[in-house]
Amino acid sequence: MKHLDGTQLARLEELLCAQQRELREEIRRELLQSDEEHHKDLAGMVEDSGDEAVANLLADLEIAIIDRHVHELRDVEAALGRLASGTLGICSDCAREIDYERLEASPAATRCIRCQERREKTLAHEATPTL
Ligand SMILES: [Zn+2]
Repeated sequence: MKHLDGTQLARLEELLCAQQRELREEIRRELLQSDEEHHKDLAGMVEDSGDEAVANLLADLEIAIIDRHVHELRDVEAALGRLASGTLGICSDCAREIDYERLEASPAATRCIRCQERREKTLAHEATPTL
């Protein structure tokens, strides 16, 4: 069951590879940048913190800064994997085909519009502050 033709698949692969390159570059930049900031923070903290505490804090900061892009990169790489195995464009929730127009706008999409909207509504509810 193929709903995407060769031209469309080639186009999606091109988009995904471009995103992959951009994200990798961005993560690399962020790591370099965060490193400099860490050194500044480190200078002020070494006085009253043990080595281990500082190291943990640095790890946390680094993760927070690049976390979003690492997630995106993971999604893009997963999409490239689905492209290779021929399952790209199949909704992970309802197993229906995702429109090519939607895939071209966001090639790493894992859900059709209907499932995505339903999920966003659910997440919006879950995100309500509990405090
Ligand atoms: Zn769906």
